[in-house]
Amino acid sequence: MSWEDNIRRVTPYTPGEQPKDRDIIKLNTNENPYPPSEAVMKALSGDAGAGIAAVSPDALRRYPDPAASALVHAIAENIGVGDENVFVGVGSDDVLSMCFLTFFNSDKPVLFPDITYSFYDVWTDVYRIPYETVALDSDFRIKADDYKKPNGGIIFPNPNAPTGVEEPQELIRKILEENPDSVVIVDEAYVDFGACSAVPLLKEYDNLLVVQTFSKSRSMAGMRIGYAIGSAQMIKYLNDVKYSVNSYTMSAAAIAAGVASVKDTNAFEDSRKKIIATRERVKPLLKELGFSFPDSKANFIFATHEKVPARELFEALREAKIFVRYFDKPRIDNYLRITIGTDDEMDALIEFLRKR
Ligand code: PMP
Repeated sequence: MSWEDNIRRVTPYTPGEQPKDRDIIKLNTNENPYPPSEAVMKALSGDAGAGIAAVSPDALRRYPDPAASALVHAIAENIGVGDENVFVGVGSDDVLSMCFLTFFNSDKPVLFPDITYSFYDVWTDVYRIPYETVALDSDFRIKADDYKKPNGGIIFPNPNAPTGVEEPQELIRKILEENPDSVVIVDEAYVDFGACSAVPLLKEYDNLLVVQTFSKSRSMAGMRIGYAIGSAQMIKYLNDVKYSVNSYTMSAAAIAAGVASVKDTNAFEDSRKKIIATRERVKPLLKELGFSFPDSKANFIFATHEKVPARELFEALREAKIFVRYFDKPRIDNYLRITIGTDDEMDALIEFLRKR
């Protein structure tokens, strides 16, 4: 017997590399290459602007509002739902983790795609939740019928990661119709880059929860803000669990910066439109070079080359200080996930690939 017999052992999630070298072209973690709104920077330096709560010595000295009401209100107003329909957390990873803990508490398996966000099976592991993966078809599409079986909940990203594939609202509706007794979570981390949100379905289905983030379209991965939108009842269950783990998840800085970001709709629209335009410009260039990929509605492209193995390309790109993401996993080990950077960064990538 040893103390090690009684501990919670888990295999942790491996985040993408964050190299210290500023000199690299970083297309490996789906960050936004553009800075956040200037209003965010002002809020963080203490300039309250038009009624936006700013960081101040007093704000830092005190505990933050445990309900992060100002941020919840700004998000709710922006989406057109009530404050009671919004839950905020430290990035959508924190929100999703709370969702797994709150909603997936059955003996039946939670279902998610075999190719998806690689944190899902880590949360099922750490919380000891039974799960089953459901295979995507050969075009990386979700088949609604495959989710028609006894389950303890369903989760998938839309667009999916790391494929970038968007599923239509009808598919989500079908999964909801066929699983009225399960919580269905749609992880919309990448929805702002041209995909259709499941938020309108919330009016019809009280077992649906939609999760979004400030990390991608709002250029605020470093600030850590994510949120869930759902029925008041669901949000209450989430808050009950959150207040049983950590009351003060959102720092005063995150609350102030988040509110400022939501209020600056112009900066948000500009940034996401720039990413979409760059993505659409790069698609045909990659095709010309012999790459193929499922059509992406996210801020990345999941590409495979007709001749050159992905691992080889990954290493050659890395050598040239261009970082992309490679997953050494079944079905996807010949693909690269390439984040959409600035136009200049994408041109450097294309230029390198062309010369090779
Ligand atoms: N969901 C998906 C599908 C993701 O790819 C990511 C990014 N790693 C997240 C959620 C988490 O993002 P964040 O915690 O930065 O909001």
